[in-house]
Amino acid sequence: MLQFSILEKYVFLFLLVSALSIFTVLAGKLLAVVKQGAKDPDRLSAPGARFLRIVREVLLQSRVVSGRPIVGLLHTTVFLAFLLFLFETVNMFLEPFGLGYLHGFLGDSLQTFRVFVVTVAVFCTVSMVGLTLRRFVLVKISPDPKSYESGFVALLIILLMLTYIDMNATNFVAAKVNWWLHVVIILAFPAIILNSKHRHIFLAPIAVYLRKFRLWDVPRMNLDFESVKSEDEIILGLETISAIPWKLRLDMLACVECKRCTDNCPASIAGQKLRPADFIKTGQKVLLTGDREAAVIGTVITEEALGQCTSCMACENICPVGIEHSQLLAGSKAAQTLALGTGGVATEFLKAVNNYSNPFSAAPDVRSGLIDELEIPLFKKGETEFLFWMGCVWSYNSDFRSAVAATNKLLKAAGVSFGVLAAENCSGHHSRRQGEEMQFQMLAEENCAQFMEQNVSRIVTGCPHCVNTMRYEYPEFLGGHPMEVTHHSELFSRLVGSGALNVNPGTGNGKRVTYHDPCYLGRYERVFNEPRTLIGVAGYSLVETVRNKDRSYCCGGGAAGFTREAVGEQRVDQVRKSHIEETGADTLITACPECKMMLAGTVEETKDIAELLLETIEDTS
Ligand code: SF4
Ligand code: SF4
Repeated sequence: MLQFSILEKYVFLFLLVSALSIFTVLAGKLLAVVKQGAKDPDRLSAPGARFLRIVREVLLQSRVVSGRPIVGLLHTTVFLAFLLFLFETVNMFLEPFGLGYLHGFLGDSLQTFRVFVVTVAVFCTVSMVGLTLRRFVLVKISPDPKSYESGFVALLIILLMLTYIDMNATNFVAAKVNWWLHVVIILAFPAIILNSKHRHIFLAPIAVYLRKFRLWDVPRMNLDFESVKSEDEIILGLETISAIPWKLRLDMLACVECKRCTDNCPASIAGQKLRPADFIKTGQKVLLTGDREAAVIGTVITEEALGQCTSCMACENICPVGIEHSQLLAGSKAAQTLALGTGGVATEFLKAVNNYSNPFSAAPDVRSGLIDELEIPLFKKGETEFLFWMGCVWSYNSDFRSAVAATNKLLKAAGVSFGVLAAENCSGHHSRRQGEEMQFQMLAEENCAQFMEQNVSRIVTGCPHCVNTMRYEYPEFLGGHPMEVTHHSELFSRLVGSGALNVNPGTGNGKRVTYHDPCYLGRYERVFNEPRTLIGVAGYSLVETVRNKDRSYCCGGGAAGFTREAVGEQRVDQVRKSHIEETGADTLITACPECKMMLAGTVEETKDIAELLLETIEDTS
């Protein structure tokens, strides 16, 4: 055990108190930035599930490893070493006062423990060298920018490991020298970490714990202006920095600048201006300047970039530190539409929904004509089980007649009790994504009133956008009325599984088809297997696109993308079409009307999953 003179004890005590003071001051400044944020409710519900998420994403580093396995494993090694070293660090800090606890605690096992920690320190050193080489030498394959700040921190971590290894194994330098070097580096860390992106060590676990349970979970805006006590309570989106809620502030401060979000953003990949990592980092810089009155649009995110977002949530879904990009995107869109009244990119869409209750400016008899022609039953209150929600594309776009017809025939063949409403409004999904909260709330209120009046408790629809909105955003308008919303692929998968639909496994005859995961069915609802199962049982051979399932690439239709003009080097749908062409399949299977609308014509034929299923059912008769 090392012996310390009185002078050494005082010097160490002085350094320790200084480091703690610096840490407290810097942490206080960051806390003040977060505390200035607007309200953000429901961040503490379901503590058990949040704790499990911490275990999965923080302790086991699941998001860090997935997608970048080698770098992720190197980072995980450093993280686990950091946790292990906490025991040694506290022990070293107590040693000068004769209070080191490890010896008393571990007894004869201390030596074995130190051998283990030395081994971990070697792995940590190798990992840090690997990460540093990737950033500074393998610049061509590294998505991270050359950051000298990161280089300096890496050097300090390597020195920490080397001093520990030498103190306990190699003994090139006197143990006391190693001890002082080690301790001084640790005490320098608070100032370095809290002033840099390395503050994620403290903030990321908090951001992960507080993250919402689903993507784009944006609170309903209070538009009942008479109910508020003061004008300050009226927040029409993120007009200025002062409106940014506290969790989004915490998120911005926690960003580790890994750029995973940008690397997976379809607009960024297509060469457009939108870069999620950039607006989070810029937001952080603006927050730290303390300017509360700066405009969000123009300062944090440009109007052009905001207009390119498809709401696909590839960014939020992949962020390893729990950042919710949707809060900034949705808030900025709302400010654009409700407070500023300029800069929106789907004005024609919103006007059409306003005037016709559908985005195609179609007369209601287009839909009623289709219902008559295909002999789709009407929903009968108290008798019908499922409401078949057609959605705008299936109701008014004649190209989708075959998908509606297939769904109608399949539901009849399976003996499902179903029917459609005589009249249907748009669900309001895209209105909300475009920040037109007033229009969304009006549509949701009208639709929910009709559901309650007709006593609808089960809905099946082919539109994942409607599934998402009705499943999660309608309950607030249903006043406790129970509602189950199912995508047709989920229901068909169940009907095939139960034998209610009889498939012919030879229909496909091994023909190669490819499948495009819709963002709102895959990433949002985690429905990956059901459409694939239906393709498989019908005897087709599925060739996956380069980006599939969780990492699927948007078709470009989200956030009313099918009606707005896309700019930039390439359109998002063009990139996706190239992925589909690369599979070499002649048939593309979709499970979303908007995806089919965006991607039709890429290969020989494009079919909704219902059309593919109907062919195999008819093949059995
Ligand atoms: S927002 Fe998340 S994914 Fe994007 S750079 Fe920051 S930490 Fe990485
Ligand atoms: S939601 Fe999709 S399009 Fe929008 S910023 Fe995120 S990744 Fe990009």
